[in-house]
Amino acid sequence: EAKLQLVHRHIRAFPDFPRKGILFRDICPILKDPAALTAVTDLFEEHVRQNHPQVDLIVGLDARGFLFGPLLAQRLSIGFVLVRKKGKLPGPTLSVLYDLEYGKAEAEIQDDSVAPGQKILLIDDLLATGGTLYAACELMKKQQAEILGCMVIIELKELNGIEKLKPHNLFSLIQY
Ligand code: IMP
Repeated sequence: EAKLQLVHRHIRAFPDFPRKGILFRDICPILKDPAALTAVTDLFEEHVRQNHPQVDLIVGLDARGFLFGPLLAQRLSIGFVLVRKKGKLPGPTLSVLYDLEYGKAEAEIQDDSVAPGQKILLIDDLLATGGTLYAACELMKKQQAEILGCMVIIELKELNGIEKLKPHNLFSLIQY
């Protein structure tokens, strides 16, 4: 449909970034074009209204989940919560360690950000191996949240991140 095509036209690919052999998908042109940004938000909103009308909170991942999540949450008249890289959030926090391609990282959340039983949807710009969204799901489980699903603009299918996220479902706007 027209909205998806508009989004598609605003994604660029950069070979050998951040390392040789990686084809980096860049969503920055979406942010530069209000029509494309509106299309992304519309498509996410339609998905949530149809499939997860009971959602309580949108949970966005550091850093590009922060660009799209609050727009969606505002459309739905619900709150937005940040999962950040370690050391950025004040007050009591919960954290999980996870594997990156090289080494480890730690994702963190304020311990009062989600109440037990709240229904949440996670959002990021892109799913690659799934390690980052998986870690965020682990944090949500620690919070006793009910995970309704994960959402991304771009899914890199050959890395099979969808398997890593199971049993949670994934919604993606565009697949490569
Ligand atoms: P994963 O943990 O392997 O699924 O990697 C996903 C995370 O890395 C997301 O937070 C993405 O923003 C980032 N990422 C990985 N590859 C790309 C890319 O090609 N373009 C933009 N972000 C990427």
